[in-house]
Amino acid sequence: MKRIGVYPGTFDPVTFGHIDIIKRAVSLVDHLIIAVAVNFNKKPMFSANTRAEMVKYEADLISTLKIEVIEFSDLLIDFADRHNANVILRGLRAVSDFEYEFKMSWVNHKLNDKIETIFLPASKDTQFISSNFVKEVALLGGDVSKFVPPYVIQQFNKITQDD
Ligand code: ADP
Repeated sequence: MKRIGVYPGTFDPVTFGHIDIIKRAVSLVDHLIIAVAVNFNKKPMFSANTRAEMVKYEADLISTLKIEVIEFSDLLIDFADRHNANVILRGLRAVSDFEYEFKMSWVNHKLNDKIETIFLPASKDTQFISSNFVKEVALLGGDVSKFVPPYVIQQFNKITQDD
């Protein structure tokens, strides 16, 4: 049986923390779908299109064959089911992630008990990177090259140049 995994997120923008999870997740499944949430209610800084494009750029550097990037705006569990996924993969950083993630996996399991959630613990070198923190630093002109790849920095530069 082909194992299909979905790694969902807002990716506003994709960071080295996400990339670390993608690299590890792809070794656990035959096919990995990175699901970029349109998430209007979170008021993302980058459009869904740009977020997906940044994720796609980084994913292609890891594997063009095994990874696919798709935007979604419906219920995650329905998206996963529609794509015949067996597992949803999520990264866990500090304890602060735990409660929300634990509840979400419980709800998803109630909605569809055929799809499991797997948590991957954040790696030592990337565990404190968050998209929100990166945005704050970048908007104030700080150097975010230790947290996000060069392609993302280019997208930040476009935003700040437009202002
Ligand atoms: P969401 O809005 O779904 O939380 P994010 O893009 O913030 O979207 O996060 C997507 C997933 O990536 C979540 O499972 C989150 O815990 C995980 N993640 C984010 N940053 C890191 C990191 N530095 N290390 C490990 N996992 C991370």
